Amino acid sequence: MQDPQLIDPFGRRITYLRLSVTDRCDFRCTYCMSEDMVFAPRAQILTLEELHAVADAFIGLGVKRIRITGGEPLVRKNLLSLLTRLGARDELEDLAITTNGSQLAHMAPALREAGVNRLNISLDSLQRERFAAFTRRDSLDQVLQGIEVARAAGFRRIKLNTVVQKGRNDDEVEDLVAFAVARGLDISFIEEMPLGSISSHERKVTLCTSDEVRERVASRFQLLPSSHRSGGPSRYWQVLGSDTRVGFISPHSRNFCGECNRVRVTAEGKLVLCLGHEGALDLKALLRRHPGDSERLRAALIDALRLKPERHYFEADQQVQVVRFMSMTGG
Ligand code: SAM
Ligand code: SF4
Repeated sequence: MQDPQLIDPFGRRITYLRLSVTDRCDFRCTYCMSEDMVFAPRAQILTLEELHAVADAFIGLGVKRIRITGGEPLVRKNLLSLLTRLGARDELEDLAITTNGSQLAHMAPALREAGVNRLNISLDSLQRERFAAFTRRDSLDQVLQGIEVARAAGFRRIKLNTVVQKGRNDDEVEDLVAFAVARGLDISFIEEMPLGSISSHERKVTLCTSDEVRERVASRFQLLPSSHRSGGPSRYWQVLGSDTRVGFISPHSRNFCGECNRVRVTAEGKLVLCLGHEGALDLKALLRRHPGDSERLRAALIDALRLKPERHYFEADQQVQVVRFMSMTGG
C-alpha cells in the first residue's frame, strides 16, 4: 500500500510544516504584537515531547520541510533537544528556523550542530532608532552580532526578512539589499498582513507593495528573474554579479494560495490550515487525551486536511479579518 499523504480537496500536497514552539518573545514588533501582549499560560503550550509527536506525525505523512518559529523560537527552553531529534531524521530535506536574531550570537553554532540547515533572520532596519521603533527594543547591535556569528557557523543559507512600511523603512530597502549582498545573504521583503489588532500605525497607510519595493531595489541593483523557490511563497530575483537573491512575499498584490503546500501548528497545538482564516483544529486536546497514540494523531491530520480553505482574502484596505497575531500563529 502507498504511504498515506496529506492532500487537500484542491489537490495540493502538504509537504511543509511551520511549527511554533512558543508564543513568547523578547521583542514587541509593532506589526506583530501589542505592547501589553498577554501570553498563553505555560500549561497551554505544547511540551517538547508533544511538539516532537506532532512533527513526527507530519514526517510520517510526507512532510519534507519543517520550519521552527514562534514567537521567538530561541527563547524556548531546551529547544536544542527537539532540534537534535528532528535534525537526525533522514526524511527531512530541510530543517529551518525563523528568528529575530537576538539569541544567535550565543546559539548559532549549537543550532547548526543540531542539524538546522537554514536560518531566516528578521531585520527591518539598519538604523538603531528605527530598529528600536519597529521592535520596541534597542537591540540592533545584538542582532547584527548574531548575524555575523551565524554566517561563521556554516548554514546552507541565511535569509533576512524585512517587513516594509511606507514612510518608516521603505527608503532603506536598497541599503538592506547592499547589506545582504556584502555578506552573501538572501533577503525577502514582506507586505504587512492584517493579523491582530494594532494601535501603533494604520496598516492601509503604511502598506508598501512588492512592486514598489522592487522598483526601489532595481534603481540601485540589476535584478534578474530567478526560478529559485524556497518552498515558501517568496518570488525571487538574482542580484546580478552577486550570490544574493531578493524575494518578495506579496500576500496582497499576488495571491499565491494555488501553490500552498503548508500548514501551521501553533504553540498551543492548534492546527491552522490557512493563515488568513480563523479555523483551527485542537491537536493539544487530542495529544493529551490520547498520549502516545500516533495512529490517532495521523488519522486526525489526514481528516483535518479536508477543511483546508482554497485561499485567503487579505484586501488592500487592511481590515483585520483574523484576530490572531502572527506571533500566536507562528510566522
Ligand atoms: N520571532 C521570529 C522573527 O521575528 O523572525 C519568528 C516569528 S515572526 C512572527 C515571523 C515573521 O513574521 C517575521 O519575519 C515577522 O517580520 C513576520 N510578521 C509578523 N507579523 C507580521 C504581519 N502582520 N505581516 C507580515 N509579516 C509579519
Ligand atoms: Fe517577536 Fe518575531 Fe513578532 Fe517581532 S515578529 S514580536 S520578533 S515574534
